[in-house]
Amino acid sequence: MRRLAARVRGLPPTIFSEFSALAARTGAVNLGQGFPDFDGPEEVREAAVRALRDGINQYAQGAGSPTLRRAIAEHAERFHHHRVDPDADVTVTAGATEALFDALLGLLDPGDEAILFEPFYDSYAAAVGMAGATVRPVRLRPPDAAHAAWWYDAAELDGAFGPRTRVVVVNSPHNPTGKVFSRLELEAIAALCQRHDAVALTDEVYEHLVYPPATHLRLATLPGMAERTLTVSSGGKSFSYTGWKVGWAIGPPPLRAAVAQAHQYVTFAVAAPLQEAIAVALRLPDAYFHGLGQAYAARRDRLDGSLRAAGLQPWPTEGAYFLCAEVSRFGHPSDDAFCRWLTAEVGVAAIPLSAFYARPDLAPQVARFAFCKTDRVLDEAAHRLGRLVVPAAP
Ligand code: PMP
Ligand code: GLN
Repeated sequence: MRRLAARVRGLPPTIFSEFSALAARTGAVNLGQGFPDFDGPEEVREAAVRALRDGINQYAQGAGSPTLRRAIAEHAERFHHHRVDPDADVTVTAGATEALFDALLGLLDPGDEAILFEPFYDSYAAAVGMAGATVRPVRLRPPDAAHAAWWYDAAELDGAFGPRTRVVVVNSPHNPTGKVFSRLELEAIAALCQRHDAVALTDEVYEHLVYPPATHLRLATLPGMAERTLTVSSGGKSFSYTGWKVGWAIGPPPLRAAVAQAHQYVTFAVAAPLQEAIAVALRLPDAYFHGLGQAYAARRDRLDGSLRAAGLQPWPTEGAYFLCAEVSRFGHPSDDAFCRWLTAEVGVAAIPLSAFYARPDLAPQVARFAFCKTDRVLDEAAHRLGRLVVPAAP
């Protein structure tokens, strides 16, 4: 048989599929792959059923259902003071994953570079690679005596920008660290994009999962950034329907073209009835979004308490639905080995952070625990983690 094409040959199976399969095989509580184990709002589900029954069952417009595009624009204005033209600026995609893929495929030529804050969500590097371009990682470093949150070295970011830089991907709130980029950080990134004529591609799928005092700021709304930013999000996390895979990219026509040109041949259009339902979701009252954040803050605190009770020391999480803890003292050769052991022997699946690094062998040993789970499941995980024997710190 013919070999795989070079662009996919080196791609490992995603860490999420691997650990969900391992969790299922071993009967572990799955705090690995980030998906809620509960449904989102009933009226949103009903809207999907209604759309199916009302015959919204043929191809949607390639750019997305006009109703959804209007809802995306209204939502952007309501929550982020982001002015969006629903006809000129929006492309609806199969989840944020497709929007990111289309954007990277549509922007990058071989020889170009994309700056990624590392650890980075796994699909970014795969997409950059498939576009024939190169990843320039910039390290996020864990909180320490001088930094209350994950941070990066400004000189390292400065040094990463150069004549080949075409795109910088900014994921905030950040998976896997839970970092929410501050205004100062975003302003510094904006200044570098402008100095080097680079495009900012933001991944804001956790835009509504932000825990006070942290606040989410949309990079596209900073001065001079509207014309050079593509903003990506999706309905998966905000409405707890990750399986629906309705996402979008927002950007001015020249940037939107990069997404739309790829999109028309990647998927052409996205599940029509689900688009109608996500339009209903985006128009839910403010109270829904506020309640979502509060419910997640409570889950975060619950899991944080359980991890601490088990002797782990998670770093603070300002956004998204993950807690990360250093695990080197357990004496496993890698965080991957630790997470496999934790899944199979302790019965709790977590994701090794090294999977989110360009060079996993140079990554710190950290496990990521997802808290997008019902209390019952979080409590069962806590119970099992009670069996952990934590070696004393060296
Ligand atoms: N970006 C980040 C940071 C994510 O964590 C995820 C997945 N949960 C995605 C993108 C993919 O989003 P979607 O399911 O909408 O494709
Ligand atoms: N984004 C989810 C996570 O980080 C997983 C999505 C996927 O399985 N591709 O856990």
